[in-house]
Amino acid sequence: MKQRALIFDIKRDCSEDGPGIRTTVFFKGCPLSCSWCQNPEGKEGRVEHWADSAETVGDWISLDDLLYRLLIDKPFYHSSGGGVTLSGGEVTQQMGFVHSLLKALKAEGIHTAIETSGFFNYRRFSELLLPWLDLIYFDLKLIDDIESRQHTGQGNGLILANLSKLIESTSVPVIPRVPLIPGITTSEMNLRGIAGFLASHNIDAATLLPYNPLWADKAVKLGKKTDYQRSTFMTPQEKNQCVLSFQPGKRRVGHAN
Ligand code: SF4
Repeated sequence: MKQRALIFDIKRDCSEDGPGIRTTVFFKGCPLSCSWCQNPEGKEGRVEHWADSAETVGDWISLDDLLYRLLIDKPFYHSSGGGVTLSGGEVTQQMGFVHSLLKALKAEGIHTAIETSGFFNYRRFSELLLPWLDLIYFDLKLIDDIESRQHTGQGNGLILANLSKLIESTSVPVIPRVPLIPGITTSEMNLRGIAGFLASHNIDAATLLPYNPLWADKAVKLGKKTDYQRSTFMTPQEKNQCVLSFQPGKRRVGHAN
């Protein structure tokens, strides 16, 4: 039987999801349920409809079809030092398909990256994905387990343990990223706690991702109720306060935007 994956978007010419010119593939389905989810159309592991519309969200795509679409830009990947980034949702929810996809991309000499929430089975991840990955973006949201359960629907024990194992046992570069969600992840206690966790693993670089409010319109279009409300981008002062709270010290902190 042909392998297929449930995908909700494929973006070409991306420059923010890794080095060079990239194509980013968004896999549908996520085990977390963040109240601010910036990709609400990626949460559910099933085909959905935009509210009051026949237009669907999510397509089942075969491995051959997806590869064809990704390899169209192979010359651009090679000339720019780019490649393919797999995102979501949570890409590790479709581990078998992603294993085959990564192997095929590496056979073509293409640089591969993933963006993950870190909520996965480490043994399967290390067997099926890790050998074919060149770069891992690893999100850290909340350092407190109770707050993590409250705001993401899952505790953070598995996530922190997986990050520790990755850092200790692989040579694949891991870039931690912290989404800045005002009132939730931006507290000084949370950012200092995450910085401390990273420092204890000798990680000297992380990226802070400023809040982007544009997700709210998508949630409404999907007919989803949202608990979190904030309709504006972060101010420069708010971003700077987060950088200060993160205690950069000797640590390099980048923030997108
Ligand atoms: S981990 Fe990412 S995709 Fe999943 S619910 Fe949270 S923000 Fe959305």
